[in-house]
Amino acid sequence: MTAKIGLITGASRGLGKNTALAMARHGIDVVLTYQSNQALAQEVVSEIEGLGQKAVALQLDVAKVNTFATFSENLKQALHAKWQTEKFDFLINNAGTGLTAPFAETTEQIFDDMVNIHLKSTFFVTQKLVPLMNDGGRIINISSGLARFTLPGYSAYAAMKGGIEVLTRYMAKELGARQIAVNTVAPGAIETDFGQGLVRDNKDVNAFIASQTALGRVGVPDDIGPMITSLLSEDNRWVNAQRIEASGGMLI
Ligand code: NDP
Repeated sequence: MTAKIGLITGASRGLGKNTALAMARHGIDVVLTYQSNQALAQEVVSEIEGLGQKAVALQLDVAKVNTFATFSENLKQALHAKWQTEKFDFLINNAGTGLTAPFAETTEQIFDDMVNIHLKSTFFVTQKLVPLMNDGGRIINISSGLARFTLPGYSAYAAMKGGIEVLTRYMAKELGARQIAVNTVAPGAIETDFGQGLVRDNKDVNAFIASQTALGRVGVPDDIGPMITSLLSEDNRWVNAQRIEASGGMLI
């Protein structure tokens, strides 16, 4: 059987890398993107190939909408060269970074950066790539636990993630005709480089989050990648337009 192809943004590190590898372990070929860490992205490609699946890494800055047409062309070429196809199956809008500031000190620049990196990118990357997706595919948009609960310093970031959750339902409504299911995955705090590795490296923050989490610890990437991958399986084909939080029960 021909392998399905999943495209995941921001998979040179962190949750994206973990998800790319989880997809490969489940027999899915991967197109992964990176912003600047080409060498790390190539290592992920090699790891995926080591698992017996095909992969390519493409550069993409999700904050630059005016580059998406070129990205789409690069993707078409990669699909043709590596898979002799024009279409892929799964899109995971994961790339992103957090900028934190108290509400009163959040500048227009921070706000605009968060719009561009999270909300606008999810909207327009998907709009640009949906024509390259097979009918029956899946889209997963990555939100955050912070769209449900509140912690100081995340007003702009979390507002964008909230927007992504609404957008997910609208995508599901309009793409249903093509049998494309669209869901949001909202991770809780996970130990990655995100936010300069705050959750992973700051003992006090780590202990606070563990104390506020029903399962009693902070999340790790392996809590997320396999969960996202499970949503791509046939077993979950009827799950659509949902927000699924993977936070170990944080701040409940
Ligand atoms: P990391 O910082 O570990 O990795 C970020 C990834 O996104 C890298 O691959 C990076 O590429 C890429 N990236 C960053 N900015 C851009 C950009 N402007 N354009 C394209 N790619 C970009 O973050 P995480 O893996 O932790 O986060 C992944 C997603 O999960 C994000 O959307 C984040 O908001 C969300 N999330 C994370 C949580 C956490 O606690 N970690 C909790 C909830 C949600 P490069 O390596 O080239 O820089």
